Amino acid sequence: MEKVAYCPAGHSSNDFLYSDNKNFIYYGNCSLCTKERFIQEFKTWSSGNANIDKIIQESQVKSIYEMFHWIPYDNFQNIEHIADGGHGSVYSAKIKNGIKWQWNFIKQDWEYRFSSNIALKEIKNSRYDIAEFLKMIKIVNTYEYIANYYGISKNPSTQNFIFVMDLFNDDLHNYLTKTFWNLMWEEKLEILVSVTTGLEILHAKNLVHCALHSGNILNLASRGPNIYLDLCTLEDDLILNANEKNNKIYGSIPYIPPEVLRGSKFTMEGDIYSFGGIMYEVITAQRPFADQAHDTYLMIDICNGVRPKVPDFMLNWIPKWYLDLMYRCWSDDPSKRPTADELYNLFREISNNLFYYMMDNDVMRQFKIADENQNNTSKSQKQELFELFSHSNKLHPQSCYISRCIHTFHGMHDLLEEIKSGKSSDPNLLSIKFNTHNIDEEAEI
Ligand SMILES: [Zn+2]
Repeated sequence: MEKVAYCPAGHSSNDFLYSDNKNFIYYGNCSLCTKERFIQEFKTWSSGNANIDKIIQESQVKSIYEMFHWIPYDNFQNIEHIADGGHGSVYSAKIKNGIKWQWNFIKQDWEYRFSSNIALKEIKNSRYDIAEFLKMIKIVNTYEYIANYYGISKNPSTQNFIFVMDLFNDDLHNYLTKTFWNLMWEEKLEILVSVTTGLEILHAKNLVHCALHSGNILNLASRGPNIYLDLCTLEDDLILNANEKNNKIYGSIPYIPPEVLRGSKFTMEGDIYSFGGIMYEVITAQRPFADQAHDTYLMIDICNGVRPKVPDFMLNWIPKWYLDLMYRCWSDDPSKRPTADELYNLFREISNNLFYYMMDNDVMRQFKIADENQNNTSKSQKQELFELFSHSNKLHPQSCYISRCIHTFHGMHDLLEEIKSGKSSDPNLLSIKFNTHNIDEEAEI
C-alpha cells in the first residue's frame, strides 16, 4: 500500500516510514529537514577561508552521501602522530561525537556516523591550495577504490588546515614488504585490478593523479587497496596551459615520467608511467631505483631510457606478458603507453580467468607456470633468495620516496653542464635530512 508521510515541517516522503506489518512507524529522518538544519548552522562555524566555507556548504546541502563537513578540532581525542608526508603530517585520532549525518525530527537531534578512529592530515605546506584541492576531491569523493575524505578542520595552535579521512591499516609498500613471499598471482592481480579501477575512475572524470606511488595506495582491511589523492589536477587545465613548461615539480624521481622531468606538464599518460612503478613493486617488492641516489644523474638515465631492472632470480615467477605490459607503461613516448581503461580490462580478464581456472591460452599458461615455479621453491631456497633480495634491496641513503621539490631539466638550463663538470652541486641530490620545513620553502604546488 502506498502511503505518503509528512514530517513536522510538512515535507512529504515515504522514506520516513517503515512498516512492521500492522503500522507505519516513523524513522525520524528527513533529508529536507537535514538540509535546512545544515543551512541554519552555516553561521555557527567558519574555516576562516570564504572559498573553503563555500565548498563545504555546497557539499552539505547536496546529498547526505556526498557530504564533506567542517569538523571542529575539539571533536578529536587521543591524537597520535603516525607519519610525515610531502605536504605535512598524518595523525590518528578518535572522533568524540562522530560526524553529523542526518537530522532526526523525533529525537530533535543529529544522528552521527563514524565514532571510530580516523586519520588527520595536517597540511604544513603553506603553498598548498586547499580550496582548489577540495574542488578536485569533491568530484570523486564517493567512489570506491579512492580514499574518501570526510571533512576539514583546523589546528588552533598552528592554524594549519587538517583533512579528515579513513584511518588505513597500511600502505601498499608496507603490505607488499610483509606479504610478498607468499603472494600468488591471484592476489597480486586483485591489487592491480583495484588500483587500475581507481585510476580509471579518476581519468574518466578528467583528473590526473600526479603522484601515484605505493605510499599513496592505502589498504583498508574491509575495502582493500584505495588510491589516496595527494595532488591531482584537471586535464582541461593542463590542455589550456600545455605550452607552459615547469622549472620545478613535486614528486619522487623514480615515479616521475621522463617528459615531466624534461619540464612538460603531468598528464594521464604520466600517471600510467607512475603505475609502471607500482607494477614493478608488485613483482619484486622493491620500489623502483631503491639502490640508487635520486639525483639529476638518475633523471638523465631515465630520460635516456634506463628503467628499473627485475632481479634475474625472480624472473621465473613473472609472466613475460606482464613484463611486456610494465615496460609499455614505461615507454618514453607517452602515446605508446596503455590507458587506465585498457589496464583495468586486461587485469580484470586475467584475474577472472585465474579465478575460474581458465588456462587455455598462452598468457594464462604463463601465469600458471609462474605460480607453479613460486610454489616449487622450497623454504630453504626462499631463505637463500631472501638474502640475495635483501642485499639487492638495500635502500640507498640518498633515495627519497616522499614527494619533494625537483628541478626539471627545463629549469636547470646551464646548471646541468656545471653539475656535470663539478662546478655546481646538484640541487636534486638529497644532501640534508629530509624534513617538511625545507620542502615548504621550495614547493611550487
Ligand atoms: Zn522535513
